[in-house]
Parts: sequence; structure tokens; C-alpha cells
Amino acid sequence: MKKIVITIDGWSSCGKSTLAKQMAKELGYVYIDSGAMYRAITLYFLRHHTDWSDTAEVNEALKNTVLEFHHNEKSAQSEIFLNGENVEYLIRDLVIAEKVSEVAAIKEVRCFAVAEQQKMGKKKGIVMDGRDIGTTVFPNAALKIFMTADIAVRVERRFKEMYEKNPNITIEEVKNNLEMRDYIDSNRTVSPLRKADDAVIIDNTNITMEQQLVYALNLLKQIKA
Ligand code: C5P
Repeated sequence: MKKIVITIDGWSSCGKSTLAKQMAKELGYVYIDSGAMYRAITLYFLRHHTDWSDTAEVNEALKNTVLEFHHNEKSAQSEIFLNGENVEYLIRDLVIAEKVSEVAAIKEVRCFAVAEQQKMGKKKGIVMDGRDIGTTVFPNAALKIFMTADIAVRVERRFKEMYEKNPNITIEEVKNNLEMRDYIDSNRTVSPLRKADDAVIIDNTNITMEQQLVYALNLLKQIKA
């Protein structure tokens, strides 16, 4: 069967990566977590005290930033490497989550990340999730999904995930972070988060992971029929 590009965009913590991983596994496609790229760039900027209000500093930092995804056989997941270092765990910290949307709103950062993402999609057979994948990165993708879920459900899911790593985290911190990121992501000037006109909405507030996969695979059948 001819391989295609599948894009999954949506709000923070509404299950995009879960669905993307499920679909990639089912179809034998590559899964790319574009958010991990913005998180890794943020980690680099924080470590190197990059002043991201200064375009020259941003450009210099981006020149020294190499991002790669490698498949981890043990976890059966793809993990992000920043200049050769596996940073998959580090980038999930709240310190990164608090700054990533600011960094991701910078034009030069987006140009850099989008160019890398487009290279990864050249051979098709890819599921990529993010905020602007169906609108900017792959505007001609054959299947575009836009995910949403109630804020309370999203906060609950992200809280559980983060609590495992950091038992001191509070539900308010998680809620404030999600709301702040959604606000910045959907109000920035360069490729803001929005549903592509031809994307199909999946609201997974009240459906199981299995149900969302069945639904998404049906969408795929429809476009191939
Ligand atoms: O997907 P995740 O929540 O890990 O993304 C982290 C942040 O990266 C988002 O809140 C957003 O600011 C940024 N992002 C983006 N464009 C993408 C993917 C993520 O701006 N395609």
C-alpha cells in the first residue's frame, strides 16, 4: 500500500502522541514527536544561557544544535538526541515546559525545526504530531487529524504523567502550564496552532485509546477507498 504522511495537531496533552504512536505501530510508519524538537532547542538555550530576544544569538545557537531521533529497541520508542546526547527524559521537565512555548514562537526557531521536519517526511510513511504539522509543515498531507479533549481531562492525564517523575508537582502547576502553552501556541504570529481546514477533529474526552485508534484507522480507509 502506498505510504502517506499523517499529521496530528491539537492542544497540549490531548493524546496526540498516544494516537500517533498507535498509528505508526499499526502501519509500520515512523513516528516523529515535533514537540520534542522544540523542547530540545529550549534545553539547549537554557543550558547555554542564550538570550532568545536577540536574533543573532538565536541563529548562532541554532547553528550548534543537531537534533536526531533514534529508535530505542528496549522501550520500542523513538528518542530525541541533542548533539549526540539522549535528552528524551530531561526535556519532559516542567522547567522546559515553562519556557518551550516562548522559544517555539521565535521565527528563526520555527524555520529551523520545520526544515528538519520536512526532510524527515520526504520518504512519506510518517506520522508527525505537533501544533502546525497539517497547516505549515505538511500542508498537502493525505490525512490530517486535529485532536481535542476537555481541559479537566487533559490536566488529569498530564498530572499523572508528571507526578510519576516529580511527586512535588501540583495539579495547579500542571493546569497553569497547559493553559499558558495553549494560549501562547494559538496566539503567536508565526504558524499559530489552529485546525487545518481539511483536518478531521477527534475529541477523545470520552473515548478509549482503542476506540480512537479504530476511528483514525477508519479515516485512513476512507481516504484510500
Ligand atoms: O507536544 P509538546 O507538548 O511536547 O510540545 C511542546 C511545545 O512545543 C508546545 O507547547 C509548543 O509550544 C511547541 N510546539 C510547536 N509546534 C509544534 C510542536 C510543538 O510550537 N509543531
